[in-house]
Amino acid sequence: MTASSGSEAGTRCSFLVFLGKDRHPSLIHETAPLPSRRDLEDGELLLKMETATICGSDLRTLTGQRTQPTPSILGHEGVGRVLSSKREGVDPGTRVTFSTIDACFECHACLAGLPQKCPHLLKYGERKIQENGGLSGCFSTHVLVRKRTRIVAVPDLIPDPAAATLNCGMATAVGCLRKAIATFLPRLNSARACVQGLGLVGVYSCMYLREAGFSEVLACDKNDARLQMASHFGATRLFRQDWRKEEEEDDEGVDLVVETSGDPRAVEEGLAMLKPGGVYLLIGTGHSDALFSLSGEDILSKCLTITGMQNCRPEDLDEAVRFLEKTIGTYPYEKLFSPPFPLHQFQALWRGLEQTSMTVMLPYRRPCRRLLRPGCNASEFIICWAVTVHKAICISIFTEIPLSQYPKERSLHYQNFCWMIMG
Ligand SMILES: [Zn+2]
Ligand SMILES: [Zn+2]
Repeated sequence: MTASSGSEAGTRCSFLVFLGKDRHPSLIHETAPLPSRRDLEDGELLLKMETATICGSDLRTLTGQRTQPTPSILGHEGVGRVLSSKREGVDPGTRVTFSTIDACFECHACLAGLPQKCPHLLKYGERKIQENGGLSGCFSTHVLVRKRTRIVAVPDLIPDPAAATLNCGMATAVGCLRKAIATFLPRLNSARACVQGLGLVGVYSCMYLREAGFSEVLACDKNDARLQMASHFGATRLFRQDWRKEEEEDDEGVDLVVETSGDPRAVEEGLAMLKPGGVYLLIGTGHSDALFSLSGEDILSKCLTITGMQNCRPEDLDEAVRFLEKTIGTYPYEKLFSPPFPLHQFQALWRGLEQTSMTVMLPYRRPCRRLLRPGCNASEFIICWAVTVHKAICISIFTEIPLSQYPKERSLHYQNFCWMIMG
């Protein structure tokens, strides 16, 4: 099949440009001429984005906890339709998800099966605009998909915004768990797993482990709403833990602990939970100040395996789509996302969140059709600002302290159960 043009001559694309945490404003809304098919290199695709979700890493960048080159278009989780194609066999109109990385697939790291560590890596949503990084972020009406970036068709039966989480939250969960699950294959139905930290990757991990055949999946978090969410997604037992004191004990031990909390205090506790021969998988604690102490005895006395995985491989996207397609009717994915918010209102939304020091309390699942309002001084609160319209972007941040104090308090949780529709 020959690729054909679907470009919309004369139309423009619009996107949010992140200038840096300390710039005012830190985000601006820009437009530019839409690239035509002639502008594409062989193998490239221009996507018209349908939906993007806001990842925890986007929020960390916006709040200055994580740095990246600027100016840039943030956002790497999204689903779109091919508008123009210069890739053989890919026709305009195809709904696709794409790998969040573009690698050379020729270097040592790529050939060793770790393209996410390729020295020529391009990460969508993290590229400086001037460095050939235009239209490489999902907070945009259009994304230019590079020639080596893996794409996978997304069936229409997978609704937004779950489809938008395929290339990050879902692909990370299935990609990171793949090897660990293989370790227990011969005895999966008697194996027990524990997931520490119930953000989107944690919730998806509970579900994936349960579907893989683990007899029990324990879910740990310090947040009751997150725990309740996990109970709908495969968790068989809930533990409310704050990584400092055990409030409930599980004395049977588990075979696999998956750490998606980002909190190094979880590590010692997770290692203590493991049975002899157990596996501890680090996914969330990828930051340089994630320090924890453990002795050789901790590992050797129980013959433990400690392993880590950062990002996923492009091939994991295939399994992510297959898994979501298989489970879309079984699990209540719609519970994970708040109503949408328009892309062009993101700046106003973010300014409001940055400036707010008030405690705002809104029940998570109440319809979020109101703007921020002051509430009582609760230690846990949800900031939610949403407008439900046809073409919209939505953000729902679940946190424990006012945003203005972030990132001084390390225990702050962001919930990335939020989404946007491009228009
Ligand atoms: Zn992400
Ligand atoms: Zn490479």
